[in-house]
Amino acid sequence: MTDCIFCRIARGEIPSYRLDETPRLLAFRDVQPQAPTHVLIIPREHVASSAAEIGAAQGELMGELFELAARVAQREGLTGGWRLVTNVGPDAGQSVAHLHFHLLGGRAFAWPPG
Ligand code: 5GP
Ligand code: ZN
Repeated sequence: MTDCIFCRIARGEIPSYRLDETPRLLAFRDVQPQAPTHVLIIPREHVASSAAEIGAAQGELMGELFELAARVAQREGLTGGWRLVTNVGPDAGQSVAHLHFHLLGGRAFAWPPG
């Protein structure tokens, strides 16, 4: 997807503050942080527009993504806990149609979310 903003970040065409990367995944700071730590984790490839399109075929990739999230959380010093969320569609506030997870930490979060 040539004009997808996260595809462009993955290709390095748009600068980002990268925290970690693997051959298939990228973790970078959100430009509008909602918490002291707010990191976006994306597959480099445009494998899906949202989690609604994910299935068993992406199982290994999703496992890798959870490993990366835990690694970044540890490095960010999120000993009190963290939240990993993905928004699907307008009611959830999804604004970028390239599968991504928000890793949030560094403060307490409400449950249930607002
Ligand atoms: P969504 O609203 O789709 O769940 O999450 C998209 C996120 O991408 C938002 O939190 C927004 O701040 C972030 N974002 C949008 N454009 C950019 C960008 O160019 N760079 C970075 N680092 N984050 C972005
Ligand atoms: Zn994309």
